[in-house]
Amino acid sequence: MKKQGNKLKIILQEKCPNCGVGEVFYKKQSFFSLPKMEENCDICKYHFEREPGYFLGAMYISYGLAVFQGILTFLSCYYFFSNMKTLNLVLSICGIITLFSMKNYKLSRVIYMNIFPE
Ligand SMILES: [Zn+2]
Repeated sequence: MKKQGNKLKIILQEKCPNCGVGEVFYKKQSFFSLPKMEENCDICKYHFEREPGYFLGAMYISYGLAVFQGILTFLSCYYFFSNMKTLNLVLSICGIITLFSMKNYKLSRVIYMNIFPE
């Protein structure tokens, strides 16, 4: 039941890296609560946490995503609000990174599972 193809779609929809159909995270959660992962895929029974500490590497991807969002926020503020004070700029960057932290958490794990599926 190995499905190849549109990895980007699988990653963005947070689907199982093996079959591309099953959900990786519980869907009925609020936007700001800590995301809870399923243990296995409902469809193909793929075990998501391959070994203890498997998702430690996802931390680096999450860091990269946060830095990318910080740079985008900085460039947007610099371009659109060129007379913005430094403190407001730093607070804006911190706010954006905090706002997207839960999405980064989920996205980084799904990206990591797709890079290192075994
Ligand atoms: Zn699956």
